[in-house]
Amino acid sequence: RAKSDMLKNVCFYEPSMDEAIRARRTLASELREALESGQLDIHYQVQTAVESREIRGYEALLRWLHPRRGYVPPVEFIPLAEENGLILQLGEWVLRNACSRAASWDPPYKVAVNLSRAQFAHADLPTLIQEVLADTGLPPERLELELTESTLFADRERSLHMLREIKALGVSIALDDFGTGYSSLETLRTFPFDKIKLDCSFVSEVESSPQARAIVRAVLALGKSLDIPVLAEGIETQGQLSLLRNEGCDEAQGYLLGRPAPLRQIVDSGQLSLATAADKLVHP
Ligand code: C2E
Ligand code: MG
Ligand code: MG
Ligand code: MG
Repeated sequence: RAKSDMLKNVCFYEPSMDEAIRARRTLASELREALESGQLDIHYQVQTAVESREIRGYEALLRWLHPRRGYVPPVEFIPLAEENGLILQLGEWVLRNACSRAASWDPPYKVAVNLSRAQFAHADLPTLIQEVLADTGLPPERLELELTESTLFADRERSLHMLREIKALGVSIALDDFGTGYSSLETLRTFPFDKIKLDCSFVSEVESSPQARAIVRAVLALGKSLDIPVLAEGIETQGQLSLLRNEGCDEAQGYLLGRPAPLRQIVDSGQLSLATAADKLVHP
């Protein structure tokens, strides 16, 4: 009897799973509207050189301010956009807006834009990047594209070809969330990355866990010997920053150095001024 009661309970989950699926569908169609009605925005988070404390650039992070739900986190809506194909439009929108804004930054810092798998899979990506750079006037060396291992194809040859085409434009490539994938070392050996972004999960434990610290140290040593700078993501405390500085980490990003914020706020803080009035977001 106890067992059949348990099974009954299991069955009770079914309607709520239906609801979850329906909620996802609703959110997905609302995302389409969001793109058209100006609910999307980009926040920027500073990336800093650890030793000199100089600002190196800003990462563009997509934000959706839903009229009723408030901010919907990217981890919720990016996978939806990947599923329904909207990510191509979203991705292009972010790329265009981030490049067009960065083109007017004074000083001329870099802008880092995240790339999704579907964008990477699109054969025309190098052409799109070239067009966006031409349209916005952003010099290629000021654009960095961030991708994760899961963005790359199982077909390594094809991935390598794509990365080389993008790099030939003069754009740099960062490996995001390093350490969370399955084949990090093979990936580093094969692909010409310009930066390694050490995932925040290692940074958050670097003070408390000897294992995390050992891994951080090993990744920094790897970066040194491969001559690829390492950026530590998710720095929240002074302790984490000092530790990473002592271990020779090149760059840092995290709440301690600056939270992702609207460009207006960064300009008002005096970190940036806009050389031209490229102040309006371009909507499709
Ligand atoms: P990501 O590219 O690894 O971005 C870093 C994430 O860490 C951001 O989350 C950022 O807000 C967060 N973060 C920064 N500093 C700290 C810190 O000190 N502590 C903690 N706990 N978190 C910190 P966000 O903005 O929620 O974005 C999550 C992910 O969504 C991104 O991870 C990226 O994979 C994806 N994403 C965001 N914008 C875009 C986009 O325009 N296109 C694509 N394809 N993906 C995007
Ligand atoms: Mg990123
Ligand atoms: Mg990351
Ligand atoms: Mg991430």
